[in-house]
Amino acid sequence: MRIGMAERRGRIETIENVIDPGELAKAAPSELARNHIGEIEIELSQPVGADLHVQNPRTGRLVLDVAGRIAGGGLILSIDAGTDRVPETRAQDIGADRDGLIAFAARLNEHLAPLHPRERLEHFCREVAGKIVFTTSFGLEDQAILHMLRERSLDIDVVTIDTGRLFPETYALWTETERKYGHRIRAVYPRQGSVEAFVQRHGIDGFYDTVDARLACCHARKVEPLARALAGASGWIVGLRADQSDHRQETKVVAVDERGLLKFSPLFDWSRQAVQNYAEYNGIPVNPLHERGFVSMGCAPCTRAIAPGEPERAGRWWWEQDTKRECGLHSRSDAGEVAQRAAVGPTGTTTKGGSSAGA
Ligand code: SF4
Repeated sequence: MRIGMAERRGRIETIENVIDPGELAKAAPSELARNHIGEIEIELSQPVGADLHVQNPRTGRLVLDVAGRIAGGGLILSIDAGTDRVPETRAQDIGADRDGLIAFAARLNEHLAPLHPRERLEHFCREVAGKIVFTTSFGLEDQAILHMLRERSLDIDVVTIDTGRLFPETYALWTETERKYGHRIRAVYPRQGSVEAFVQRHGIDGFYDTVDARLACCHARKVEPLARALAGASGWIVGLRADQSDHRQETKVVAVDERGLLKFSPLFDWSRQAVQNYAEYNGIPVNPLHERGFVSMGCAPCTRAIAPGEPERAGRWWWEQDTKRECGLHSRSDAGEVAQRAAVGPTGTTTKGGSSAGA
């Protein structure tokens, strides 16, 4: 059975209400002969994202393929997700119960992992109640996800964090992307006081001096603004892939973030090449810096091109020895404490920037 781009094997369980349109009469319900119309129930080997025809006449359709040939098609009248469907429980019902949220994420993982990223996005947006935020840095993966969201008209809060230190090419791509999809992307900025305090204490490029200073800069310019971007959300869509680095190998399709959010990585099992192919095939605008060896996109002073064979994230904070190369957006416990320490003045009082950065 094919729905949109998805294809699943299935078995016809029931045939009902068969009509022979040539005779305008009911036919034997035991089989669906050529040109007959009937109601059938199909049990699929794997879940698939689908709309009901009443919800969306354009996408609520299916094509039946038997032995490689199109054998028919029809409208999706109802969907019974079976006993092992994604649970009814929704994130907002779980509230502060972290164990419940972890169990919900585990069940979502099981159901979303076999699907195409586009279908994962549809399921996630349908199953997770409340606000869902997608944060983009206009990297290759983020551009692919945004395309999938726009293609399916999924109503998601798309946000970027403008650290103030991005590449000119990234700003140009931001404009180009908004023009292409006809949607404004919400920008969140660092708090002025936090940046001023950092620059006062460490210097404008003080992040090169120590890891602590670098984490403090990332905290002021990225992590704290992210907390505001995600305020009130129950789901967070990100462009992580498991093979981006050793540190990200454990990336799952859905995880529970330290903030108590469902963190969703629809491309978790795609290779960079697969994302590239998808972007090329769909004419998705991408950052021209990728062609010059800039693979993982971040702030201009902290990102360099990588050489062939180098790990993808080797170009981020390349002067540091620690192989984790994270800024704290995806591993708060690594960065938060150190960043706060670096932002605290010598007397032990928290500076204006530090207070904000530790939020
Ligand atoms: Fe600051 Fe560099 Fe982190 Fe950007 S990547 S926030 S410039 S340390």
